[in-house]
Amino acid sequence: MKVHNFNAGPSVLPNEVLYKASKALIDYDGTGMSILEIGHRTEYFMAVMDEARSLARELMQLDDDFEVLFLHGGASTQFMQVPMNLLDSGETAAYIDTGVWSNKAIKEAKLFGYVDVIASSKEGGYNYIPKQFNIPGQAKYLHITSNNTIYGTQWHEMPKTDLPIVVDMSSDILSRQMDYNQFSLIFAGVQKNMGAAGATMVAIRKSLLGKVGRKIPTMLDYQQHIENGSMLNTPPVFAVYISMLTLRWLKSQGGLAGIEKINAKKAALLYDEIDHNPLFRGTAVKEDRSLMNVCFVMDKPELEEEFLKFCKKEDIVGIRGHRTVGGFRASIYNALPYESVEVMVEAMKYFSLKKV
Ligand code: PMP
Repeated sequence: MKVHNFNAGPSVLPNEVLYKASKALIDYDGTGMSILEIGHRTEYFMAVMDEARSLARELMQLDDDFEVLFLHGGASTQFMQVPMNLLDSGETAAYIDTGVWSNKAIKEAKLFGYVDVIASSKEGGYNYIPKQFNIPGQAKYLHITSNNTIYGTQWHEMPKTDLPIVVDMSSDILSRQMDYNQFSLIFAGVQKNMGAAGATMVAIRKSLLGKVGRKIPTMLDYQQHIENGSMLNTPPVFAVYISMLTLRWLKSQGGLAGIEKINAKKAALLYDEIDHNPLFRGTAVKEDRSLMNVCFVMDKPELEEEFLKFCKKEDIVGIRGHRTVGGFRASIYNALPYESVEVMVEAMKYFSLKKV
């Protein structure tokens, strides 16, 4: 019996992925070896890597200029790898500050060039997405965080610019349909929406590369990873395998069109309860609410611990808000079943009837 898992990441995975992976841990595809015991350059693993890369490309409908990589180091490594590869020391990059993760990206970029923070929602406690900003034409690229995992805000309309857009999609990758070709570099730790911790997906336009003067260490050079088919060194084989299975599952859900419908339904159900239940209040402004991380508080904070305990009894886990903001956060990523949101909403209704 599984619980209703609202963890922010690593987070819930589809049952069929876990089932298949558990079998592969013992015997991968009748090879007599565990997936963990197979050389990464064997035909068996090469096929896994190829399928993971091509499924990600297919689901996002990326054009031919893009290469998809599965790298180590988490999304956090991308905070430095992006400017190291794209920003020369005298050049400027534009960043939009929508919270903790944007700030970490800004801090790293400053090690490599100038950073122009062209907008920030800091003064609103990061409860909205900035709408007014000028994007400087001379900037090398614009960096945004498409979904703000901690504050529960999300870009529903992407900024329009001729500059290359770099997007940190760690917490909403492959959760909705959009024109992914409007971006030049998409990166995401795969552990929320498309797999297990240990791999980072990077989709990058080849035409972006080769334009900085500095010497780039081999392991941090996108070009080297591309030339080596995302196999420059031993890849995180198990994480890539889980991603490949999760991408197959996503495709079977009707791809991004299918999952988007389910995700919208889950978010609507939960936000509707938050808006109508007198005990709870959403923290993000309505138009910028995230369909992935639903953040809310109680006007009676003294009841918060009691509610958490009550939820635990109901097999609802992972809803405590991030340590920096408190309150509650229900992460409703791709693999979270609709029924889990129904159970959560019932728990909110019941608790509120007892308390109001
Ligand atoms: N960006 C965002 C939006 C995130 O939510 C996270 C992780 N929660 C990260 C970056 C950092 O990811 P990682 O732990 O894979 O480095």
